[in-house]
Amino acid sequence: MRFDEAVCAIVGEPGKGLNAMFVMMNAARLHVALQGIGLLDAAWQKADAYSQERRQMRAPGKGKSAGEADLIAEHPAMRRILDTQRAWVDAGRVLAYRTALELDLIKHSPDPATQAAAQRWCALVTPVMKSVFTHQAFHGGSDCLQVFGGHGYVREWGIEQIVRDARVTMIYEGTNEIQAIDLLVRKVLADGGSGIYALLDTLQAELPPGAKASTQAGARIQTLRAITAQIVKTAPQDPALAYRVADNYLRAVALVLMDWAWLRIEAGVDDSTPNAPTRWRAPAQALRSWVLPEFQMRTFIIVQQCTAAA
Ligand SMILES: Cc1cc2nc3c(=O)[nH]c(=O)nc-3n(C[C@H](O)[C@H](O)[C@H](O)COP(=O)(O)OP(=O)(O)OC[C@H]3O[C@@H](n4cnc5c(N)ncnc54)[C@H](O)[C@@H]3O)c2cc1C
Repeated sequence: MRFDEAVCAIVGEPGKGLNAMFVMMNAARLHVALQGIGLLDAAWQKADAYSQERRQMRAPGKGKSAGEADLIAEHPAMRRILDTQRAWVDAGRVLAYRTALELDLIKHSPDPATQAAAQRWCALVTPVMKSVFTHQAFHGGSDCLQVFGGHGYVREWGIEQIVRDARVTMIYEGTNEIQAIDLLVRKVLADGGSGIYALLDTLQAELPPGAKASTQAGARIQTLRAITAQIVKTAPQDPALAYRVADNYLRAVALVLMDWAWLRIEAGVDDSTPNAPTRWRAPAQALRSWVLPEFQMRTFIIVQQCTAAA
């Protein structure tokens, strides 16, 4: 690039360039999060279509007759992959729509308290979305490639292109490690946890009442609150602690958000529609079976690190 004799214009006030730059950066982070969700959805669509055509071996419970082999989609290991990616994509969409709404509230709400809550949502949720949905685009996209077996590894089906394209999203517009530090060090610890506690209150209040899954989601929210308090308390004793656990912390926050998003989705499912079991209930179950158990691992790691630091 050559800038000789280029005309430039100052953006924002003199000496406040970094602040102006972050206006652009925050939009870019959300755009990259959407890129991740879009790539993962494209990967899922390709894998889902392929799994409905390709037959291979017998699925368990289908008997051992000499008849036609079963669809790839009928093998439980492949169903796990497909339904899990669907769970990530749909939670990502809900979080993206909600964040878009909060962006509008920041700009247009006449109520300062509503504006402040919207600001808080965007500040805390943006790094989480950028990080987890780009991570999932690559890793979940790779899982979708696996559904194709050897066909996934050739260009013809387009799935390997998605996996390659997804890889950079974990790096640009702030690497995912930097997103985690932004969340925990610059945002959560900066105000002693009060911002994230307020966000957790909002999530808790919006859980559909009565459902058993809401009680479990509520318990995870309480655990996250306790873990946050532990980090806030221990961080001053070990300057590296927050930086070591930031990735685990971001994942724990993401899982609470995913849980919230899916409870909201399920509250709107009409079980009388023919596709409700496969389109909605199966991904919801995959979330609970294969995604949310990670929460225990993440919080265990954080507690161990806090205990060692203390
Ligand atoms: C295809 C592509 C397009 C790009 N487009 C643009 C563009 O248009 N404009 C632009 O300005 N930039 C662009 N970039 C640059 C991009 O934003 C940087 O590559 C990215 O921010 C990472 O910086 P880096 O490559 O210097 O890696 P480094 O900063 O050297 O990081 C190397 C590794 O160390 C980790 N790391 C670094 N510092 C820390 C820390 N403090 N704590 C924990 N971990 C850390 C990182 O997470 C990473 O894993 C682009 C990059 C790529 C690959």
